[in-house]
Amino acid sequence: MTKNESLFTEAQKYIPGGVNSPVRAFKQVGGTPVFMQSAEGAYLYDAEGRQYIDYINSWGPMILGHRHPKVVQALREQIGKGFSYGTPTELETEVAQLIIGMVPSVEMIRMVSSGTEACMSAIRLARGYTNRAKILKFEGHYHGHADSFLKKAGSGVATLKLDAPGGVPAAVTKDTIVAPFNDEAALRSIFAEQGETLAAIIVEPVAGNMGCVPPLPGYLETLRALCTQYGTVLIFDEVMTGFRLAPGGAQHYFNIMPDLSTFGKIIGGGMPVGAFGGKKEIMQRIAPSGDVYQAGTLSGNPLAMSAGYATLQVLAKDKTFYQRLNDKTASLAAGLREIIKRNGTQAIVNQSGSMISLHFCGSVTDFTSAKAGDNETFKKFFHGMLEAGIYLPPSAFETWFVCDALGDQDIEFTLKTAESLLSA
Ligand SMILES: *Cc1c(COP(=O)(O)O)cnc(C)c1O
Repeated sequence: MTKNESLFTEAQKYIPGGVNSPVRAFKQVGGTPVFMQSAEGAYLYDAEGRQYIDYINSWGPMILGHRHPKVVQALREQIGKGFSYGTPTELETEVAQLIIGMVPSVEMIRMVSSGTEACMSAIRLARGYTNRAKILKFEGHYHGHADSFLKKAGSGVATLKLDAPGGVPAAVTKDTIVAPFNDEAALRSIFAEQGETLAAIIVEPVAGNMGCVPPLPGYLETLRALCTQYGTVLIFDEVMTGFRLAPGGAQHYFNIMPDLSTFGKIIGGGMPVGAFGGKKEIMQRIAPSGDVYQAGTLSGNPLAMSAGYATLQVLAKDKTFYQRLNDKTASLAAGLREIIKRNGTQAIVNQSGSMISLHFCGSVTDFTSAKAGDNETFKKFFHGMLEAGIYLPPSAFETWFVCDALGDQDIEFTLKTAESLLSA
């Protein structure tokens, strides 16, 4: 037994499935999850000392790469001053100001500790604000694991094929309406019937939890128009896209203003952080200024705020950052497309900014088409890449992320390895 296999055997005795989040298990691809012990720049190092080019980036947060000097320094400084006070700090206001300056639609923001918390709080706020109960989400979109979102959800829910996840009473999801993504006609007919009872639409503006699935041209504009017409709160779930596609996230990238936005991942720079924010008029309904209750013992935690602030500052100050990152990802996408073409592989590459995914089927524009991917080919590809030292997400229902630390030679090596696997 390898060291890694014995670590997994031991973990399974004490932790359900041996992992603290289902997406880390290799359920879709088989084999043993790799236990990591350190990370630096664009690389992960496993418990056996093997190096991997990291395309999961902790599922998004590590956009600068691991252990960026600015983030390390900020954390070191904060450690010397204490880890958690349970009182307000000036740092929280500075983080809020920085975010409000970067994200066009955000006038006020509340920090929480995860993306899940951000999304469930945003929904409660939208319901409180509109005094309506129903919400609309899309097939294959993931908004964390709160009860009301676990209907046709993406990410681990899709990977594990949990069509009816346990412990979620029908009464709790009866007000969750699910629509196919990128289908304008379906959306219009739902709104015509029940638009006036819809508190909110929550959407991943670029879906990233069924692979990477960009919106079709005009689709987000339609969401915006329908929400305005019916008094429905438009929530962009920017937990993944926020600070990733552009300094102001997908709303900046596509130039569309949602009413509320949720954040996570990059906003914490690798520490557990989430946030939700938006129009002042709506945000002021949150307690203690309003009657919609939301709270958190560790919300705005100084260590987490330090890492987040340092990360966001780099993103805000480096004017060529996003061009560089998006170009790098585009060259990876172009290289993969050439390989697919040359080898006559039945596959498609989706890309938006520094989000990218490979599907072994025809075009992927929604959950139905994402599910059509050939998993046997994906499995073989995933393990071939892993063997060569390239760590991809272990499921086709996930996006790969490119970080700033990734070098041209890493991309070349990735393409060379992909070529040898797909031509075999
Ligand atoms: C990751 C993710 C979440 C959940 O965030 P957690 O921090 O894992 O709770 C919500 N929405 C989207 C779009 C995500 O990618």
